[in-house]
Amino acid sequence: MVAIDRSNKARTQRKIRYTNRALISLIVPAFNEQEVLNTIHHKLCTVIATLPEYRFELIYIDDGSTDESWQMMCQLNNSFSSVVCLQMSRNFGKEAALTAGFEHAQGDAVIPIDADLQDPPELLPKMLEAWKKGFDVVNMKRSAREGESWLKTASARCYYKLLNWVSDSPVEEDVGDFRLLDRKVVDAINTLPERNRYMKGLMSWPGFNQTTLEFKRPERAAGETKWSYLQLVKLGLSGITSFSMKPLRLATWVGCVISLYAFIFAIWVLVKTLVFGEPVPGYPSIMLTVLALGGVQLLAIGILGEYIAGLFTEAKQRPVYLLMDIKKTEAKEELQYE
Ligand code: UDP
Ligand code: MG
Repeated sequence: MVAIDRSNKARTQRKIRYTNRALISLIVPAFNEQEVLNTIHHKLCTVIATLPEYRFELIYIDDGSTDESWQMMCQLNNSFSSVVCLQMSRNFGKEAALTAGFEHAQGDAVIPIDADLQDPPELLPKMLEAWKKGFDVVNMKRSAREGESWLKTASARCYYKLLNWVSDSPVEEDVGDFRLLDRKVVDAINTLPERNRYMKGLMSWPGFNQTTLEFKRPERAAGETKWSYLQLVKLGLSGITSFSMKPLRLATWVGCVISLYAFIFAIWVLVKTLVFGEPVPGYPSIMLTVLALGGVQLLAIGILGEYIAGLFTEAKQRPVYLLMDIKKTEAKEELQYE
């Protein structure tokens, strides 16, 4: 009996209680993810248990799922961390879901993680280590993309190149939403008032001390990607139009070059007709000019339209998302370290 008491006391003495532990918010947006929710929660809890020097809050966002995702979320809990579930009133898209997560996160650092296990929770310790070293942003770069079609990988590569060429604030190539952001970066993002929320751009915009770690992005654990090609193109366009004015200037430059060419061509035609009296052979050159100019004009109007649509969205000042329900489960115990 005495022996047991003494060993208990020794164990208590060996226990280190971390005071002032930093709070880390993990943001998991989910749209129809009933197949993977339990798995991701279990994995996150396993990793959390190995990091007693931090406190965690898990924020799950149901982005208008039509399956059992919300009911499943409400049942998730973890003894050592609080679980917050936000239910949006409809599907507002991942960018809006992340915005909701950022606005509700209380952590000293915030990490968005996809629900489909493509952002491996096992990397959290490495990210937190980099944060402890003083980096405010820890970007997670995909060195390989498993299970993605050749077309998706190639178009992503071209898109990042194009975006960085036109954009005024650089966006790290092949870095998705999975990254660690310090509280001051999250506060900066939360003050950005725009409704067009291209999160990769918004997360890069504040700058601060950055580092990049590489990882191999695995395939989706289950279910299907929630992005169609059309949605990806729309997201891509919104990324370009909300972070660059170069396409507008391009339209001006193309207009200038064509006008100059038209002026020179007009003089040449005039001289040929008036001075040399040559009949002007018409049809092919007129057709070519009309079609080429029509195409360029429509393209320029399209570019203008994209920007005006952006202005229209901003002018309406509608909220980025609406919440229907919030559920919160507090941590029951404190993690202790032996
Ligand atoms: N997602 C979301 N709302 C949407 C589309 C996606 O919250 O309208 C979530 C989805 O549940 C997942 C994450 O965003 O947790 C990434 O989506 P997905 O895996 O479909 O994208 P991919 O990895 O194919 O780019
Ligand atoms: Mg995915």
